[in-house]
Amino acid sequence: MRYRRFGKTEMMLSVFSFGTMRYLASEANAIDTTFKAVELGINHLETAKGYGKSEQFIGAAFKAGLSKQRDRLYVTTKIPPTKDADSMRRSIEQSLQKMNLDYIDNFDIHGINTSEHLEMVRKSKNGCMQAVQEAIDQKIVRHVGFSTHGSLEVILASIDTDLFASVNLHYYYFNQRNAAAVQLAHEKDMGVFIISPSDKGGMLYTPPQKLEELCHPYTPIQFNDRWLLSDPRVHTLSLGAADPTEFEPHRTAWDIDAPLSDLEQSILQRLDNQYLELGKDRCSQCYKCLPCPENINIPEVLRLRNLSIAFNLEEFGKYRYKMFENAGHWFPGAKASKCTDCGDCLPRCPEQLDIPQLLRDSHKRLQGSEGKRLWD
Ligand code: SF4
Ligand code: SF4
Repeated sequence: MRYRRFGKTEMMLSVFSFGTMRYLASEANAIDTTFKAVELGINHLETAKGYGKSEQFIGAAFKAGLSKQRDRLYVTTKIPPTKDADSMRRSIEQSLQKMNLDYIDNFDIHGINTSEHLEMVRKSKNGCMQAVQEAIDQKIVRHVGFSTHGSLEVILASIDTDLFASVNLHYYYFNQRNAAAVQLAHEKDMGVFIISPSDKGGMLYTPPQKLEELCHPYTPIQFNDRWLLSDPRVHTLSLGAADPTEFEPHRTAWDIDAPLSDLEQSILQRLDNQYLELGKDRCSQCYKCLPCPENINIPEVLRLRNLSIAFNLEEFGKYRYKMFENAGHWFPGAKASKCTDCGDCLPRCPEQLDIPQLLRDSHKRLQGSEGKRLWD
């Protein structure tokens, strides 16, 4: 296992972090999976107040013997922004109790997704950050970062507050929208933690045959891991193992610390070329078409369409598409079927795409059963 300096926090984190959102089948499974992570060299455990019994299960693992290694382990927990300091104080206290810990190595504001959330963290008097600052003064919190599923604009503004030493965000080969945020975080010497690269990065654990062939001799998981970790601005990737067997597919990437090899470059080239299959209907993800009066997240809908056609990532597209109108600020925007053909977006598209027609096509391809986020 390789370790990287997590920006100005100076914590040396393993290049994979154990994300504990999915190990919830039982306390025994959670303990076994946590011990397996640590045995493999993972030294960063990541949880959140909102992940069901996850914090409690981390507490159980510490009680079951992990506390002997407390000094070499780092724990991140996350709590959503609150309107007042008291609520945040109580939540931090509860998280510590559940995890059987007397300090949190890295505390994240969970989900700065909107400008309203950003205002909540900017509030200087009696806001949630006052409680976080008190926790730092009392040495029960060591470092503070934030996680986000928000727009690039909200992420950049959050980084620019200089309130945070790290950021936890979406960034993958198949979704490079947040590249500018990764760069800004790097310039500010912040830790960069990638959320769920195998799941949110394309449901890569069940890849379509076409994608498997394009990535050969790597698996899509291995290629995406390598693509991310060949970038020194990226420090750690969340690995959300549900049981002790699910770490293994990532093994190739955790021992290599090098730029992409010739072979990896050739896979990258093959994947990049695949976008040509979209022909004149390719959305270049410039985001210039927004805003849409019907609140359709046009670029995100068309990204899912791009992936479904160019890489056969249709099941992934359906999985993400069903979140529209179902996951609030975690995945904002209306479904493509809400397009009224008003035409507002058309003159703003440099590719001169027939956006309403492409949205109708996307809806037809991607509409599946309704769904909610995993931990709701
Ligand atoms: S044409 Fe459709 S997608 Fe474009 S701005 Fe109007 S409602 Fe939104
Ligand atoms: S303006 Fe056109 S190319 Fe750019 S994101 Fe919107 S639809 Fe895609």
